[in-house]
Amino acid sequence: MLGQMMDRPLLVSELLRHAERHHGAVEIVTKTVETGSIHRYTYRDAHARAQRLANALQRLGVQPADRVATLGWNSHRHFEIYYAVAGSGAVIHTINPRLFPDQIVYIANHAEDKVVFYDITFAPLVEKLAPQLKTVKHWVAMTDRAHMPKMGLCYEELLAAESERYDWPSFDEKSAVCLCYTSGTTGNPKGALYSHRSTIIHAYASALPDAISVSARDVILPVVPMFHVNAWGLPYACAMQGVKLVFPAQHLDGKSLHQLFESEEVTMSAGVPTVWLGLLNYMKEQQLRFSTLKRVIIGGSACPPAMIRAFQDEYGVDVLHAWGMTEMSPLGTATTFKSKHLKWSREERIKLQYKQGRVLFGVDMRIVDENGRELPWDGKAFGDLQVRGPWVIKSYFKGEGGDPLKDGWFPTGDVCTIDPDGYIQITDRSKDVIKSGGEWISSIDLENIAVAHPAIAEAAVIGVKHPKWDERPIVVAVKKPGQEVTKDELLRFYEGKIAKWWMPDDVVFVSELPHTATGKLSKLTLRQQMKDYKLGTG
Ligand code: ADP
Repeated sequence: MLGQMMDRPLLVSELLRHAERHHGAVEIVTKTVETGSIHRYTYRDAHARAQRLANALQRLGVQPADRVATLGWNSHRHFEIYYAVAGSGAVIHTINPRLFPDQIVYIANHAEDKVVFYDITFAPLVEKLAPQLKTVKHWVAMTDRAHMPKMGLCYEELLAAESERYDWPSFDEKSAVCLCYTSGTTGNPKGALYSHRSTIIHAYASALPDAISVSARDVILPVVPMFHVNAWGLPYACAMQGVKLVFPAQHLDGKSLHQLFESEEVTMSAGVPTVWLGLLNYMKEQQLRFSTLKRVIIGGSACPPAMIRAFQDEYGVDVLHAWGMTEMSPLGTATTFKSKHLKWSREERIKLQYKQGRVLFGVDMRIVDENGRELPWDGKAFGDLQVRGPWVIKSYFKGEGGDPLKDGWFPTGDVCTIDPDGYIQITDRSKDVIKSGGEWISSIDLENIAVAHPAIAEAAVIGVKHPKWDERPIVVAVKKPGQEVTKDELLRFYEGKIAKWWMPDDVVFVSELPHTATGKLSKLTLRQQMKDYKLGTG
């Protein structure tokens, strides 16, 4: 017997319609791409302009399921494009402009993008790419006439020519809404194709108080780019909850961010550890405080304990450590406390925050050994983390790479422990795990200790070949400007913090570490750079 409830599809256009109707006067603020001046309008304006844009897309010949790409910073225009494209039934493909040009050419051709919207900072890139992107019929510069680069149509002129009445169509909630490519650290990038249904369910789940807690009383500044897994879904969750949004565009240096946090009274922000490093250094140098910021969500790579302590102890800003991935829309876990943890000491609670947290309802998880056998949740056994759920992919766009699932589970490529309370701790990506004498050493644990040293700015730990132990860990580290530390001093800093056999065999100081297009340490590149390195000890 079926339930007798209405079959109203879960569609992304409903989010903006809801925001317009119930939070119409709430602001969306952008530090503009063109000049860095402040642009301010409301959800009501955003809805009107998204409707104009939906009409414009129709005029440009965009059909349902066509891919419409963006090369854009976080801005009100990018937000309008999200909703106009998805709401009209087409698919938004957010391209990461930090990818190598060859990778962009590959993914835009693979996605068969019909229209590309681009921010004017990317005009030189677009001119270079255009001849190689055969499926693109229209290029649109996201600006007004006064700032138009040479190529393509003018966004503001397109909108001005249209009516702000557009009836958002109704269709199957399983229809595709958005295409995000993984950064392709091995092989070609692969596309994760979300549906309207998965996007709305993910927005509901992420907004919950024990997830990232998104409420109408917040002012949220997503530092995480809208070209990287939809800014972790915030443009959807914020519209769902009627949150004031603040977009920083490309102005992501410490000074610009701090000014924007203060002037717009931001309460919550989200980003990868690298951006927070810049902000915290600037705050320290200038001896600044936050007056309204209460919480930061840190994820995308492991949040170093030193960063959790700096935010919480020095600035009174709570850290929410979260884990996820492109294939999971992206949220999987977040480190929020259970009521029993409120009785724990502050120190014990901070230690719990080093972990990546417990799953959001909707995500099911398990850890398995190399034979696919499930491992216990004892906080000690590490295994390959597998997940399943309504916002986890079941295959890649165009079936790339064959069937990625194992017995109905998606292998995340991460290795972790799960404690009896269900909190995961990522120890490595499976390809970064260091295998020494048949046992595993966690590179993340060793990196976290290195960056807790006052003279170390950033550190990566990789395994190098060893004749007896198979692999041994070495630390590759960048010193803070003006700070000194020797190899022996850094190694002594590890003593008492780890098992003896985890002790790195060497420390190599470098002036810079390589990063991926999403701002994470690129160990693949580092391993290539270090390929001629030989352990002195043999
Ligand atoms: P890519 O970097 O390949 O584009 P994603 O941005 O989807 O992919 O990154 C997902 C990966 O980032 C995860 O599989 C995990 O390895 C890593 N990651 C994300 N959040 C965390 C975290 N809080 N701690 C440790 N690793 C994390």
